[in-house]
Amino acid sequence: MRISRITVWQMDLPLSQPYFLSGGRLRFDRPDSTFVRIDSDEGLSGWGEACPWGHTYLPVHGPGVRAGIATIAPALIRLDPRGIDHLNAVMDVTLPGHPHAKSALDIAAWDIFGKVAGMPLWQCLGGGHADDSAPPVAVNSSISTGTPEEMIALIRAASADGYRTHSAKIGGSDPRLDIDQMNDISAALPAGETVTFDVNRAWQPGTAIRVLNSVTSRDWVEQPCETLDQCAAVAARVPQPIMLDECMHTMQDHLDAWRHGACQGVKVKPNRLGGLTRARQVRDLGVALGWQMHIEDVGGSALADTAAIHPAAATPDANRLASWLCHYHLAVDPAPGQGARNDRGHATPPSAPGLGVTPNEDMLGTPTAIYE
Ligand code: MG
Repeated sequence: MRISRITVWQMDLPLSQPYFLSGGRLRFDRPDSTFVRIDSDEGLSGWGEACPWGHTYLPVHGPGVRAGIATIAPALIRLDPRGIDHLNAVMDVTLPGHPHAKSALDIAAWDIFGKVAGMPLWQCLGGGHADDSAPPVAVNSSISTGTPEEMIALIRAASADGYRTHSAKIGGSDPRLDIDQMNDISAALPAGETVTFDVNRAWQPGTAIRVLNSVTSRDWVEQPCETLDQCAAVAARVPQPIMLDECMHTMQDHLDAWRHGACQGVKVKPNRLGGLTRARQVRDLGVALGWQMHIEDVGGSALADTAAIHPAAATPDANRLASWLCHYHLAVDPAPGQGARNDRGHATPPSAPGLGVTPNEDMLGTPTAIYE
């Protein structure tokens, strides 16, 4: 089997309402997503998506994804899409780094691999379930930065949709307000529900240490500061478990985090790491180390969400926290009704072979590039 064609589409994914992170420092309205279809000479096709969640969240942007694919894709033509580690080696030689550009291609190759194997990706990635049905994965809400009242209202709305785990985006310029906000949200949290406070790197280490030693919450705190070393300094001096996200790009970053005791858990995001191949490697490391992980993607439609729910469903319960579904926030649905969707607080990966999501090409429009 050989790759005969790689087709690329761009689609803006407008949010149903503006979304703010990091005390309002970062605003998101319309993420730029890239969809990829790999066709093989034996008629099987695979789909992938890469959506950097705007251009202020990570050092990545939508046009950069497509520029990277333009450099990489010609080198993949005529290779066997089932040899995914080899594909990754070729991608790494052709363009070092740039994991966001490799992610959609890697996911599309996994989609073909699963279709050839006749198994859904959660099974290809090692998952099992007592009755062979797809295991449901707990999902978490994502609560945009706002006043405590606004954020509590969003948590209550998410609770009504079945979410029992929430990711509250905090971290402003006044530590006293951050302390009040965390205490207010903790006090208002419905019984039986949990919250992660995601700072999205807004704090200086001294601010993080001051705030986190002043609040009552002992829930997870995510990415308090910009760098791994800053987060490690905080982790050693606060009572909450620390989750790392934006500063984790390579396997070396994860090894450094372990060596420095910088966290007790990580976000595993295929688009940040380079696809399902790298996400699986990090997941396996996390299981070995005893980390607890949120496995989800950086952003995107139900296609990207589903690509991340597959490895989440294949991860031991003890090492898996809830997964975010970005498509819950979108005003468009280019894979209508398909894939992993919130069903009273859980999402179940498809049982069809491969990824189990095929976007509506009419909605994607005219391809931006075709490589063959
Ligand atoms: Mg985060």
